[in-house]
Amino acid sequence: MSAFVVDSKAEGFSVAMHLDEKIGLFTSDTAMLELNRCKVPRENLVGQVGKGLYVAYSALLNGRIGIGSGCVGIIEDCLNSVVERAKTRTQHGKLIGKHQLVQRHIANIAMNFEAARWPTYRAAAEKKRLDATPDDLAVRNKVDLQSAIAKRVASRLAYESADLAVQVFGGFGYSLLSPVARHLCDSRVARIYEGTDEIMELKIASLVLGNGFEAYS
Ligand SMILES: Cc1cc2nc3c(=O)[nH]c(=O)nc-3n(C[C@H](O)[C@H](O)[C@H](O)COP(=O)(O)OP(=O)(O)OC[C@H]3O[C@@H](n4cnc5c(N)ncnc54)[C@H](O)[C@@H]3O)c2cc1C
Repeated sequence: MSAFVVDSKAEGFSVAMHLDEKIGLFTSDTAMLELNRCKVPRENLVGQVGKGLYVAYSALLNGRIGIGSGCVGIIEDCLNSVVERAKTRTQHGKLIGKHQLVQRHIANIAMNFEAARWPTYRAAAEKKRLDATPDDLAVRNKVDLQSAIAKRVASRLAYESADLAVQVFGGFGYSLLSPVARHLCDSRVARIYEGTDEIMELKIASLVLGNGFEAYS
């Protein structure tokens, strides 16, 4: 298997289906692509012949750390948004931030922020180590594990935090005019693409258990 850059104007390339009705990520175009006897010139080869899977795996390692980082950003913005809302929104003569149950939501988002960012930093640090020693299999496995953990943890916590933030915003939180509603829609897909929650869990377990325990194909 080899990796190539394919020109979208190449013969045999088509967009099989446009995913127009997504529930989030409105600024990003998503489509299913079809390659039917598509010819690509030799110079479009990425990496070495027969090493395409290596290119794909490398992209996934970076991608998972990127998604983890994006999710940390979502949690941080949820936190900033609810703090601002809690300090400015008054109901029945009292700031909503003075209610203990609203404070619990804020405390949970603050904890999620810490819980999501440290595994993400750790994965990024391990990846930096791998970039310096690309042939070290032990380091590669470590990055594989840490990036799966970072993505799995941060994406779940981002979705949970966005849900809590919507709660703090009340009815306005249910409108796409509020930033937190957009975070709720956008963060959900982070649990699906670049490896679903389930695949991340199987990957983490197999890397912890060692060779021979891969429960996914
Ligand atoms: C907005 C968006 C953008 C995307 N961008 C890209 C992109 O840029 N490039 C790209 O290549 N793909 C992209 N994808 C595709 C995405 O990576 C896949 O949707 C994702 O990997 C899940 O595959 P699937 O949709 O075929 O689900 P399925 O494989 O049908 O999975 C359905 C369910 O079954 C579970 N499941 C499947 N197999 C197993 C197993 N072996 N063990 C346990 N559980 C399993 C899954 O975890 C999931 O819960 C994008 C998807 C979306 C929604």
